[in-house]
Amino acid sequence: MTTTPTQQEAEPDDDLDSALVTARRQLERAATHVDVDPGVIERLKHPTKVQQVSVPLERDDGSVDVFTGYRAQHDDVRGPYKGGLRYHPEVSAEECTGLSMWMTWKCAVMDLPFGGGKGGISVDPKALTEDETERLTRRFAEELRDVVGPTKDVPAPDMGTDAQTMAWFMDAYSMQQGETIPGVVTGKPPVVGGSYGREEAPGRSTAIAAREAVDYYDRDLSNTTVAVQGFGSVGANAARLLEDWGATVVAVSDVNGAIYDPGGLAIHEIPTHEEEPEAVLAQDAPETISNAEILELDVDVLIPAAVGNVITADNADAIAADIVVEGANGPTTFAADTILEERDVAVIPDILANAGGVTVSYFEWLQDINRRQWSLERVNTELEEHMLEAWADVREEVEEKDLAWRDAAYVVALSRIAEAKATRGLWP
Ligand code: NAD
Repeated sequence: MTTTPTQQEAEPDDDLDSALVTARRQLERAATHVDVDPGVIERLKHPTKVQQVSVPLERDDGSVDVFTGYRAQHDDVRGPYKGGLRYHPEVSAEECTGLSMWMTWKCAVMDLPFGGGKGGISVDPKALTEDETERLTRRFAEELRDVVGPTKDVPAPDMGTDAQTMAWFMDAYSMQQGETIPGVVTGKPPVVGGSYGREEAPGRSTAIAAREAVDYYDRDLSNTTVAVQGFGSVGANAARLLEDWGATVVAVSDVNGAIYDPGGLAIHEIPTHEEEPEAVLAQDAPETISNAEILELDVDVLIPAAVGNVITADNADAIAADIVVEGANGPTTFAADTILEERDVAVIPDILANAGGVTVSYFEWLQDINRRQWSLERVNTELEEHMLEAWADVREEVEEKDLAWRDAAYVVALSRIAEAKATRGLWP
């Protein structure tokens, strides 16, 4: 049965859907397609725990500032909580809770033995020196020590944090526990238990999702044009792989704007955000367009891979691509999603497309527990296998229940979580 949301349901397009509002709406919508005990849905609307901590920091000049940190733990019925730690001025308990719910669905759709978590500190990381970031991270790790751990809750990098942040977090935790415990976080540098291929993984999975979607709609990648918004870890890796596999990437952007060549850009020559920040507009290209225009280009595949809430009720009618693959988290608002569905634009959702990151985090966690590092080739081979399995599971729901891809992905995730909850029962 297909349930098309009514205008009323779709109405609240304030165009800046909060993560929590979106997560709850998507849960309710998925619940209409699955036969689940309403008690389970009610439990999933609430996080298990949201830890709030004060994180004092001695600045380099000797003064002391106190920042607020959070760790939201949504659900762990399938395994330890898993999700990023972000350093950003807008981090809040509500945002972490919503994002932790997304992580629950993302881990479940990929069939990983994890639940959802998310946390961070409300701080502007650009206003900290490296030494201050290290001290802040070590103290944050100490404040969270009771609630994290390889079998409890496993953080990872997110906005404003990176592999070095995770190395400090792991070191602080390990020093206090009296033994080296690399599995407490993922996204570490390979020399201290990180996995090869982790950094490229969300872009790789986005490219795989795009490739499978092109194939599903009976097209040939070598006749496919692609536009990618955001040329960072996700966007650049996805664009480069798709070009390697035969697609023509005609436009890419960074925060300052986009370059466009209808004949195809020399994508490997454009530096990524990490190689040279905001260098896209400095490249030779016949045309420069805006970040709004790149979204409306007449291409086969559009990959928003920069920030959330870029496809809204205001521009959804103007999206000319036939397939949208969500590299970023939450690039499409709820109302825009409805418009795209009515227009038969296929939207491959973030919880499937960019799930390569958490999937390789799972591989990293396995490597840490087993004290055995995998080769890059093995990581990429196993990621490909996981993606194809998840794709097939979601495709089955698309076909059997005549659902849009997002609804189908939520149905897969919710069914797995609900079955695990029903099997374990409610304690006590
Ligand atoms: P990044 O910092 O490496 O790159 C971001 C890119 O987007 C840069 O090119 C930047 O110039 C551009 N950008 C920033 N603001 C923009 C704006 N307002 N309009 C257009 N372009 C803008 O980031 P990333 O790691 O590639 O992450 C991109 C998205 O993917 C985010 O939504 C992130 O949450 C999501 N994501 C990342 C990972 C990961 O592990 N890196 C995993 C899953 C999802």
